[in-house]
Amino acid sequence: MRPPNQLYIGGRWVEPSGTERIAIADPATGTPAATVAVATDAEVAAAVMAARAAFSDFRSASVEDRAALLDRLTAAYDERADDLAGAVAAEIGLGRPFALDYQVETGRIHIEETAKALRARRFDHRVGQAAVRDRPLGVAGLITPWNWPLTQIVLKVAPAIAAGCAVVLKPSEFGPDQAQLFAEIVHEAGAPPGLVNLVTGGATVGSALVAHDGVDVISFTGSTATGIAVSKLAADTLKPVALELGGKSAAIVLDDADLGRAVADTVDLCFSNNGQSCDAPTRLLVPAEREAEALAVAAARCAELAVGDPAQGPVDIGPVINERQFDRVQRLIREGIDEGATLVAGGPGRPDGLDGGYFVRPTVFGDVTNDMAIAREEVFGPVLAVLAHHGEGHAIEVANDSDYGLAGYVVSADADRARRVAERLDVGQVHINFPDFEPSAPFGGHRRSGHGREAGVWGIDEFLHTTALLGYHKKG
Ligand code: NAD
Repeated sequence: MRPPNQLYIGGRWVEPSGTERIAIADPATGTPAATVAVATDAEVAAAVMAARAAFSDFRSASVEDRAALLDRLTAAYDERADDLAGAVAAEIGLGRPFALDYQVETGRIHIEETAKALRARRFDHRVGQAAVRDRPLGVAGLITPWNWPLTQIVLKVAPAIAAGCAVVLKPSEFGPDQAQLFAEIVHEAGAPPGLVNLVTGGATVGSALVAHDGVDVISFTGSTATGIAVSKLAADTLKPVALELGGKSAAIVLDDADLGRAVADTVDLCFSNNGQSCDAPTRLLVPAEREAEALAVAAARCAELAVGDPAQGPVDIGPVINERQFDRVQRLIREGIDEGATLVAGGPGRPDGLDGGYFVRPTVFGDVTNDMAIAREEVFGPVLAVLAHHGEGHAIEVANDSDYGLAGYVVSADADRARRVAERLDVGQVHINFPDFEPSAPFGGHRRSGHGREAGVWGIDEFLHTTALLGYHKKG
């Protein structure tokens, strides 16, 4: 691995010229772990110029050349999977097996699937005498979060390359090593210099990228508040912005479902990745007459979960990412209590014996109503809100009564019933009976969950625009 804190611009590693650094802490101990270089405006501009130069050639690369580059990227990524897993585990506070088998593996799958989608997609069409071309938008500014950091990077870089774009990546400041490793992998895959550039830092660097005139499209994944700020800034240059934002997704358990299993599965999924997945089922809707039973199952499941530092041995839940996130989770737990929800597991404060680091007690609230803060706001920690529903129609109404619209979950013994409910959820992705991961299905949201789509062919489409060449097929 290279020395930390270098930028990758025009195919070369560059020592940052500025002195500003962002300090980040080890989530499991709260002690200083690293400092992250903040790229200057001039470095952002240099990265954009390098991408523009690379784009002028790459825009003419054939589909097969682009797909072959993605194949080489997959191979180079595979070679470095262990290094990537080490960085993800340390930076996010995850167990190494989870980092390798889920975080890193998901990234690899998405590069492969993007290459497949690219080879299957048509870019040229004919309408009468006109030829219609789907063309790359140009230079893409990519801004990513820390919670599924590699997946988020891959879900933007791979489709942008597939479309024929060049990119400037501004990853989360909370995952510097993995982003740098990813840039090394791009280099090892033989990407043309300047096709993929890396600038590090936080909000100022992201803003500089969004505002830059040489950037043609922004793809942003992160919180809804930042997504709004990015959209407003991008409006000044009218560049398109694909937004992948927060969520408050509902899991509807119908009265014919195996309640015990559905509740335990929901708890596990909600608390996976230390409770920090945008599409986690954080509102569990159970039949009113069985709420007490559901709460007992959820409480029993929480009692079985080991919380601790994943670097010290296997645990089910590690820390949340940083102090700000810890404080937010604690505030929302206190608000849940103040608003009258019933605490059936966990609660405020740290788990016993875990005084350092950003550890949260796995928390379940019962008797939640959909107007409470814990039902409306994204918590982003191991906190589950359980609500009672009075049948299918009511459950759909409550699930859809949200500012967000990212994911939904339906559990039923009757597949037709589950499908019927799924069709009526106003979200970007519905999971019927906890299905397997479907990597080429589109991922994205509605309303305050954003409006972009990632993965498969839909991910590539975000980086294209369409040109009609009239008279192209006219004879004479
Ligand atoms: P965040 O909004 O704080 O930061 C996201 C990125 O934006 C970071 O790289 C950050 O440095 C940058 N940034 C911050 N302020 C900026 C500004 N003013 N202009 C430009 N860039 C700026 O989000 P986070 O805490 O890193 O990530 C967690 C959030 O991401 C959660 O809300 C989660 O739901 C969401 N998320 C959504 C998806 C999805 O696909 N819908 C996936 C993962 C995470």
